[in-house]
Amino acid sequence: MTGTIDLLPSQMRLYNKICETFFAICKLYGYEEVATPILEDIRVFDRNLGLETDVVSKEMFFLEKKQDETLVLRPENTAGVMRLCQEGGLFQKLPQRLAYYGPMFRYERPQKGRYRQFHQFGVECIGVASYMADVENIQMAVHFMQEIGLAELTELEIHTLGSESERDAYKQALHDYLLPYKNELSENSVRRFDKNILRVLDSKNVHDQKILETAPVMRNFLQMESAKYFDNILESLENFGISYTVNPFLVRGLDYYNQTVFEIKTPALGAQSAVLGGGRYDGLAQQFGEKTPTPSIGWAAGMERLFLLAQEHQTLSVPPRKNIVIIAMTEAFDQEAQKYASLLRKEGIACLTVHEGTLRKRMKIASRLEAKYTIIFAPKEMENKTAILRDMMRSEERILPLADLIITVKKHYDT
Ligand code: AMP
Repeated sequence: MTGTIDLLPSQMRLYNKICETFFAICKLYGYEEVATPILEDIRVFDRNLGLETDVVSKEMFFLEKKQDETLVLRPENTAGVMRLCQEGGLFQKLPQRLAYYGPMFRYERPQKGRYRQFHQFGVECIGVASYMADVENIQMAVHFMQEIGLAELTELEIHTLGSESERDAYKQALHDYLLPYKNELSENSVRRFDKNILRVLDSKNVHDQKILETAPVMRNFLQMESAKYFDNILESLENFGISYTVNPFLVRGLDYYNQTVFEIKTPALGAQSAVLGGGRYDGLAQQFGEKTPTPSIGWAAGMERLFLLAQEHQTLSVPPRKNIVIIAMTEAFDQEAQKYASLLRKEGIACLTVHEGTLRKRMKIASRLEAKYTIIFAPKEMENKTAILRDMMRSEERILPLADLIITVKKHYDT
């Protein structure tokens, strides 16, 4: 199906390695995993993400309409996590550091790195107002990139959207600046001009970009408090040796962001340059019934884009499978082979038996199974209660008494 991908076993191993790395990082930073359903009521998203955002206005997958209930496949999960916090009473136990992983759905025009079903890793730090939460959250994102070998291939971009009133003043100034150029703007930007003017800044159109070169910038609309907040973050990033670029055109696709926004981008994936995006969303909890503002910050990373990069650039090594393969040369030894396979599995050692074909063919299968050792039950050796143990890496063979088989494999399995 367009916009979806299959994963073969070898790809799945790399994929799982990225997952494991993510959760190892979460553990280091004290983030606990939560899970929300893929199906949500549309009300979790529509107003909260912004009615005029692309995600809500044209990319949502609708499932069922029953009187006043409309179900959708979740397009993102920050709003879902807010719902979880509210229904699960977590807003009463702040701060919370939560992480999730799972499929998201957006009706997009598929291309490399852009799918209709994709997966996001996400983290949300809920209930911390200090700029240190921003710094730590970004540090965690960069750490994740480092651990999956993508630090060299990616760059951090950061910007601030200020407070709501500062942003409103900026939007007005941007509107006044762009109005005389409205006829020249691309069709997409004209639509955004009318509905969600900050998104014009994100235009990929060269002529739009030229016009934007001399547009007012958000920085000049920040009051002292917001400016200091942003500067503190930048200074801390420098202190932690995290390099960044301030991108005044960085606007995120969803409306709930305020103050800090950031993205991790790569030039290595063509048009789909963002691998991770996040920011502050101090007002979102109130949309879910919280009485007071609940300062929060988080990010989400796209698994498929990370996977494509890690696969193409071989940035992450996946350990070999280390199976033990038992070959029973005649049917008479089949039971024996199964017995030894069971004994090895009881010791926590992965073991498979191969029953058909010539020895050559079976050895080929053993190689494909990434066997560390192959055990061959051959007639002559079996008569003497022995078996052949072949070290597949070293291409060495020795004959062992059956009684020593398990203990020998166990002894050398992890070496
Ligand atoms: P967003 O929720 O739009 O900020 O996206 C966060 C991250 O999810 C992006 O940086 C991408 O890595 C990933 N992502 C978003 N949309 C898609 C998509 N349609 N296909 C694959 N990955 C996506």
